[in-house]
Amino acid sequence: MAHHPKTLYGAALIVALGMGAGALLFALPACVSGAPLAGGVDTTPGIERANWADNVTITFAPEDETFRYESDGLPAGGVADAYLVPDDPSTMPFIDDPADSFWTLAGDEIVATPIDVTITTRPVYVEEPTLTDLGQIGVAIDGARIFNDYEDRERTVVALEDNVVHDHAAFVDECNGHPLGDGTTYHYHGVPTCISSELDVPGQHSYMIGVLQDGFPVYADKGAGGEVVTSDDLDECGGHVEPTPEFADGIYHYHMTADGAPYSVDCYHGEVEAPARRGPPPGGPPGRPDVGAAAERLGVSEAALVEALGEGPPDVEAAAARLGVSVEALREALPSPPDQAPPRGQ
Ligand SMILES: [Zn+2]
Ligand SMILES: [Zn+2]
Repeated sequence: MAHHPKTLYGAALIVALGMGAGALLFALPACVSGAPLAGGVDTTPGIERANWADNVTITFAPEDETFRYESDGLPAGGVADAYLVPDDPSTMPFIDDPADSFWTLAGDEIVATPIDVTITTRPVYVEEPTLTDLGQIGVAIDGARIFNDYEDRERTVVALEDNVVHDHAAFVDECNGHPLGDGTTYHYHGVPTCISSELDVPGQHSYMIGVLQDGFPVYADKGAGGEVVTSDDLDECGGHVEPTPEFADGIYHYHMTADGAPYSVDCYHGEVEAPARRGPPPGGPPGRPDVGAAAERLGVSEAALVEALGEGPPDVEAAAARLGVSVEALREALPSPPDQAPPRGQ
């Protein structure tokens, strides 16, 4: 049911600034017992080796020890013909009656939602994990976003075995991805099987499918020797240290798994400086909620939510009508209703 033409993973790699000498200082070998990669490793050579699709531009900034990822936000391999979108995202977990609780978004209504993000090339492993949030936690080699498992604050898992299928449409497609309810922000909640099936070689560790916001790479579910990796084989964040096709000396990396939740990555074991999402700064104007999380919960884009809420004290009823969601769902998604928000600086 899905179109996934054979593509396209020719490297669209642009090394804009050349490799400064500083970028060539290699870190210590990867696997030091107890403290993997504590000193950080330069991921530049591995990032260069990865199979970025043609809609992705990678630009290194060696002086900042970062790279910039730009894409149109669409999966290079295409999207499904149709997606189920819940009428009221706040009613998840989903009831067993898709006909009455979903509408169908056509695949051709999915729109480009550009990504422009800067990620470190010297990720630092830290003992204390940081939970991933709703919204973008990383970027995929095919141009799309990577999310964690969860569709909402109640941690409703949506990928793979927990998918909902009805009348030839599914909530997540056979690649484990889907857009938000307004057709924007296509993202993966589980192994992007349409990428891994193109790249992975039997008997070998999976090839890199993306990079998370902490700078560590992420893979499908094949470990050393091509053995299937399950969550039990990995640490609490779904990671471990071993050589990969792009990092022959070994590196801390994540695996998305298919055996059971968590299918995606629920915490970072690397240092994260700031939330991955773009949009209004956290806290924002007085009484502003976490717009990114609220938008994901409602199944609308951040831009649409910001616009619907408007300037000044938002009219929740008008905003709900504009977004096509119920007032209750909108109030629920906004953690601190603007009319009850405490004054700033409290
Ligand atoms: Zn989702
Ligand atoms: Zn591995």
